[in-house]
This record gives sequence, C-alpha cells and structure tokens, in this order.
Amino acid sequence: MTPLPLADRYARFRDAVFSGIEETRLPGFAEPLTELDLQSLWFAGAFGSEFTSTEGKAVRITDCGTWNSGPGPDFTGCAISVDDQMLHGDIELDPDARDWERHQHGANADYDRVVLHLFFDAPQERFYTRTSQHREITQVVLSSAMLASDAKPNRGLAAARLGRCATPLHEMEAARVQSIIESAAQYRLELKSKRLHRCVAAQGREEAVYQALARALGYSSNQQPFVLLSQRLPLKRLLKTDAPSREALLFGVSGFLEVMRSDDTEPETRAYLRQLWSQWWKVRNDCLRWLEERQLPRWKLKTIRPGNHPQRRVGALAAMLNVWPQVVAPLADATRWSQAAWRETLLALTHDFWSTHYTLLANPAAKPLALIGETRVQEMLANVAYPLLVPERTRLWAEYLELPALLDNQKVRRAVQRLFGDDPRGKDFTKKLHHQQGLLQIYEDFCLEDDSACANCPFPERLKEWS
Ligand code: SF4
Repeated sequence: MTPLPLADRYARFRDAVFSGIEETRLPGFAEPLTELDLQSLWFAGAFGSEFTSTEGKAVRITDCGTWNSGPGPDFTGCAISVDDQMLHGDIELDPDARDWERHQHGANADYDRVVLHLFFDAPQERFYTRTSQHREITQVVLSSAMLASDAKPNRGLAAARLGRCATPLHEMEAARVQSIIESAAQYRLELKSKRLHRCVAAQGREEAVYQALARALGYSSNQQPFVLLSQRLPLKRLLKTDAPSREALLFGVSGFLEVMRSDDTEPETRAYLRQLWSQWWKVRNDCLRWLEERQLPRWKLKTIRPGNHPQRRVGALAAMLNVWPQVVAPLADATRWSQAAWRETLLALTHDFWSTHYTLLANPAAKPLALIGETRVQEMLANVAYPLLVPERTRLWAEYLELPALLDNQKVRRAVQRLFGDDPRGKDFTKKLHHQQGLLQIYEDFCLEDDSACANCPFPERLKEWS
C-alpha cells in the first residue's frame, strides 16, 4: 500500500499531542467483550496474523479457516506455521486457558485436530493444552494491546458547546483550516484502509469486501451484528448455493425466521416466509449450535427508522449477492474502478419482496422503495471502496475529495458546534464527505479525549504550528 502523505502529517500532529499520556489511550475496549465478540475480532484479523507462542516459537496464521457452526473447535480447516513448520487443523479460542479443561476439550476427540489454542488469560502456574491423544497444542496468549489501534471503545458524545479552539480556528485562513481537516480525513481513511486490508490479508479480497459491505449495511446501530452475520455465512459458502437457499440462510442465521409467527403477518409476507422456510429447513440443522446457544446477531431494533431496519438490510444483502460479480468487479483492483458504474449497480438493486416492504411485519408500501439509496451507497464509498482502493492508486484521493456530504451524523454536528460555533465558515467545512470525516477524526482525537472542559486540550496550541 502507498502511504498517504497528508495522513502521515496528521498522525505526527496527533501523536505529538498525545506523547506522554499514552497509557490512557492503550488500544482496547472499555466495554466487556463476550467470547463471541472476541472470536469475531480474531476472525476479522484484528489481532494480527503473527504471534509468539508461550514457548517462544514464531506462529503465523496463513489460513484462518471457517468459523464453525457445529460442535467442536471454533475455527476449522485452518493453516498455521510454527517455526516455519506448516500445520493444518483447527483453532480454539477461549477467554481463559483453563476453559480447555473446564469444557473437557482434552477428553473430546472432536478437538484432536486442534493445532492452536488461543486465550487471553491463564493461571500463574504453567498450563498445557493437550488433545485426548496427549498431543501438546501450541498456545498463543492474545491481549487487547495486540488489537489494531482503530478498535476503540465507543466513547459517546462530548457536550455541544463552543470550544476553546473556536477562536484560533476563526482567526486562521480558510486554506489552513481546510488543510488540517483534509489531513485528518486522510488519516481517518488510512485507518479504515488498514483495517480493511488486514481483513483482506486474513480472509482474501472478496470475502473482506463482502464483510465490509455487510457492515456498511448495518450503519449505524447494527454494524457489528452485520459483521457477525457475514462471518457466520462467509461469501465462499453463500456463492455455492442458489439464490433462494442463500436468502433463506441469511434470514435463518440472522434469527429473523425463528422469531416470526406467520399468523402475525400479511398474506404477501406469509408467502415470502413460506418460501424462505422451504429452504431454511434443509440447512437449519447445520446451524443448530448457533441457534441452541442463541449465538445469533444481537440486533438493535429500538429507535430504528423503518428504512434502516435490519430485516430490510438483510434483504438488500441478498439482492447484492445475486449480482455479486457486478458488485465486486470494480473493486478487484484500483485500475478497474469506476465510481459511476458501481453506484449504478447498487442503486439499481431490486427485490420482489423488499422493494415494497420495510419489515416482515409491515404492510406493503404504497410505492416502490429503493433497496439501497444514495446515502447507503455513499456510506459504502466512504467505508469500503475508497479505503480499499486509495492506497493502491493514490490519485483516487482527488475523486474522494469531491464526494458531497450526504450522511447526517450527530458527532459531526457536535464537532461543528464546538470548533466553529456561529462562524459561517462552519457550513463551508461540512459540504463534502471528507470534511465530515476530518471533523469526526478531530472530534474523536481531541474532544472525546478531553475531560477538562477544553482547558487542557492541546489542540488550540498545536493549531499555531500548522502551516
Ligand atoms: S476539546 Fe479541544 S478540540 Fe475539542 S472543542 Fe475543546 S479545544 Fe476544541
């Protein structure tokens, strides 16, 4: 990947500010994580792919396999190298090393193919992981410190009031303000690129693109459930099935079929549900473990506008997979990119049921609904297409700069209030997508890190050094 010069400039600006208080910004999550969350992070490559085992051996993941839906180890069909010796088998991930014995994996032949045991905590005394055949399994201790720096806790919102930086920003020439916002936007894009390219390294390009598009469909409240759904149902599995089976799998594994009573629905929906169930029954047993353990995506449905309902978005994902070659071809490499063709493909998606329904319980809409609208396409451009392609062809940065701001974001509004207040220039710096992205980065790096009501925030002083 080609380094982006403005991103580097902003990184130095930001890191200079934070040197000396690094402890409070250690990568990691403030909120407790479930085992499922940890597995999802691992599968997305968020912990990296090169490790040192508890015995000091070099461990490299070359294929992270399939996230197992049945009994047995968490990931199957994996390939790893340990001190350059290739091993093919399964991977088990546990919060604590002792879970291996607590769950009696050491006496269970289903775990005999495990070649790597990952865990986050372990007893002080040496703990060995062994199969039922008494074969010792390589161990790697994972920690939050290994997480990529973009795996940040959700830090909520800072108060909406005028900040101390508003005066120096007001006094700066517009070109300098533009320069700092553009640099912060490039830095943000580079963070997204790194996350996406880590997933490309772990899963392959098409799989990573599919997961990233699924995440974008979940914006804003259901991104993680969509990532989980796409990890549970990898592209390589979905593309092997026909369209009706694929759609049934998506709705079945999402949990929407299990909770829906046919009697509660409209006749047209009942026919659609019958169609889904006729396929879902055939594969339901495959997914039994997830269903029994309720390891299904935890959808957030409160305060969701009907147009953003996850059921509708799962329908959009199914429609997207029906024309997958058209969706993925412009993203195959940066020289084949055409923004216009990609937009057209996504905007033209339709679905027999979801082009007229908001949810499985809703009445049919009076007129056809866009399955994927302009703002959703822009979300995908901002979070998938350009982060994937700009580092491979830096001239696409100029194209990115021209994207208009379509997304409404509460954090951006807060940032504008704090940085610009009533200064009319605030409006000028929110017209483009990159303005929003740059302001979000500054807001997260400075406003959300500040607990001194701006008094100790270094941003206003550092502005003077920005030439
Ligand atoms: S915390 Fe810093 S960046 Fe945020 S408004 Fe206050 S001075 Fe400005």
